[in-house]
Amino acid sequence: MTDLFAPDFKPQPYWWDATPLEAPATSAALPPEADVVVVGAGYTGLHAALAAARQGLGVVVLDAGDAGQGCSSRNGGQISTSVKLSYAQLAARFGADLGGRVLAEGLASREFIRDFVASEGIDCDFETVGRFHGMYKAAHYEQTAREIAAPNPVFDSGAYMVPKGEQHSEIGTDIYHGGVVHPHHASIDPGKYHKGLKEAAQKAGAAVMPFCAVTDISRAGHGFEVRSKRGVIRAGRVVLATNGYTGRLSPWHRRRIIPIGSYVIATEPIEPALMDRLIPKNRILSDTRKLVYYFRASPDRRRILFGGRVSLNETDPRKSGPRLWREMVRIFPQLRQARISHSWAGTVGYSFDKLMHTGQDDGLFYAMGYCGSGVGMASYLGMRIGQQAAGLAEGASAFDEIPFPTMPLYRGNPWFLAPSVMVYRIRDQLGL
Ligand SMILES: Cc1cc2nc3c(=O)[nH]c(=O)nc-3n(C[C@H](O)[C@H](O)[C@H](O)COP(=O)(O)OP(=O)(O)OC[C@H]3O[C@@H](n4cnc5c(N)ncnc54)[C@H](O)[C@@H]3O)c2cc1C
Repeated sequence: MTDLFAPDFKPQPYWWDATPLEAPATSAALPPEADVVVVGAGYTGLHAALAAARQGLGVVVLDAGDAGQGCSSRNGGQISTSVKLSYAQLAARFGADLGGRVLAEGLASREFIRDFVASEGIDCDFETVGRFHGMYKAAHYEQTAREIAAPNPVFDSGAYMVPKGEQHSEIGTDIYHGGVVHPHHASIDPGKYHKGLKEAAQKAGAAVMPFCAVTDISRAGHGFEVRSKRGVIRAGRVVLATNGYTGRLSPWHRRRIIPIGSYVIATEPIEPALMDRLIPKNRILSDTRKLVYYFRASPDRRRILFGGRVSLNETDPRKSGPRLWREMVRIFPQLRQARISHSWAGTVGYSFDKLMHTGQDDGLFYAMGYCGSGVGMASYLGMRIGQQAAGLAEGASAFDEIPFPTMPLYRGNPWFLAPSVMVYRIRDQLGL
């Protein structure tokens, strides 16, 4: 194909077609004070706001751009238990008790989002479709089989192996050496979910103020003064919910969060029969490479959404699009004629220990560092940190108890990213 882009190509998230960001041009004055000010209107911030507002507190949410403009309307909509470390790794690092409680919150996060969308009646195509995780090298099959058989006293993942000879029942490709199915993983339309969540927070009384970047948070008396482009609010408590977009506002957090771009494309609509061959069970999909690729059918099963990291440094979606397309066609050669209808990017927040982190420092609360798996976890920990801000004991999380590491000389500019991507690429090619 000479032009990989469809004539109606949009350099923006596919999800925005159904759920455009509302972008209300407003200069409305901010209230002079609030019990709780939340910085960031993604899943973390809105769940924090909802939890605090439902306790009868006055809550104001400020976002630098439109609410949802960060990762929360840009992601792949894949929901797992989010915690990347195994029970054995967590137990070795934190001891069996705390390690087990961290893992248990992974499960809790997945159940929380499922129950939340059901109880709030949010129409966002949530479905427990399960995940097929392909084995990129033959050696990964036995390795993964051992991993899923290892003792996990916290919960039974229900995961099972699918040998290469049977993988066409899961995915229409021969590139993988079999795979593992995680039957409880789920998919969602992230844009519709964000909109429903925002409406729930507003209905509970939270004021959501877009285009209102916070420029400074300083202590004042028993609370804080939150300075923004549109004025100052005195706040009893503040929740920092800025994740991968954490900038100069809080140098302490910035030193602990690694901002990393993640990129996605959507294809033009494809034939239903082809979709049934490629993704017969509507699973969400990924593989064992260190440089993760994640893909799925759109909720209406008309398009493939394909995401990953395709460049050493951050790049433009018009450049990442063709690179993702080539990788997609390597997995699904049947998509050679499917052009790119959308290409976009967002900035995820990684941490140095591959775990998410919550905590508080004398009235300043935070939850962040989801390492690219935050649809369920940002929702759950946002809710927990909102409960903490409201003074509820049930807001406590195992993530409060683990240290939030940084690296000497790191100030928020991930100079090591390009070399790390290069090393991962080589390791993926060698199957290490
Ligand atoms: C391309 C992509 C694909 C992904 N796919 C998946 C997936 O399939 N599954 C999964 O679980 N996770 C996925 N993620 C990650 C997931 O989307 C995030 O972990 C989650 O949305 C984080 O939510 P959040 O509310 O913490 O942060 P965000 O949604 O990023 O919100 C942070 C907000 O803070 C605001 N902000 C920053 N600084 C300021 C300031 N000074 N003043 C006011 N506001 C400020 C920003 O404007 C932004 O709106 C993906 C992310 C990306 C980018």
